[in-house]
Amino acid sequence: MVEDLKKAIRDVPDFPKKGILFKDITTLCKDPALFQRMVDILAHRYIGKGIDLVVGIEARGFIIGAALAYKLGAGIVLVRKPGKLPHKTHKASYSLEYGTDTLEIHQDAIEPGQKVIIADDLLATGGTAGAVAGLVNKMHGKIVECAFIVELDDLKGREKLAPAPVFSLIKY
Ligand code: AMP
Repeated sequence: MVEDLKKAIRDVPDFPKKGILFKDITTLCKDPALFQRMVDILAHRYIGKGIDLVVGIEARGFIIGAALAYKLGAGIVLVRKPGKLPHKTHKASYSLEYGTDTLEIHQDAIEPGQKVIIADDLLATGGTAGAVAGLVNKMHGKIVECAFIVELDDLKGREKLAPAPVFSLIKY
């Protein structure tokens, strides 16, 4: 089942810069049956775990995060690039497989003790999700797991996110 999802992901060499093999999930998301399966597998993992919030990371994490939150009956929280969120924010800087950036979350997005899943399309070095985990921890949310569609094993992002548990559907 997961093998079909893997086959639907498109490899784009040298995007967004030379030497990066971009794992493009748009070809998976546009397939109705595969998109549904992807969300269902993730949701099945967390149903009954009392998840309060899914934190989606801009932008592809919103797609996965919102669908997952809906299935779980949880809320969706947005982590966005700087200057996009209208109210008071906490900020975290991080390094990416290709550059550096800052992410923001609304200061009132998570209540202490709320059970949270962090969702994104892909785990590479773990810089992005690590910054988000830092924000969730700062707000005293409880990270149940960080969930990804794709994990690039060699980059050891999983280690960077420890002790937060990591789940990925597809590994390379
Ligand atoms: P990292 O912070 O290194 O774990 O990078 C993860 C973030 O960058 C995710 O939001 C991904 O969408 C994006 N990303 C990094 N590397 C790739 C890649 N090879 N293919 C697709 N997206 C990537």
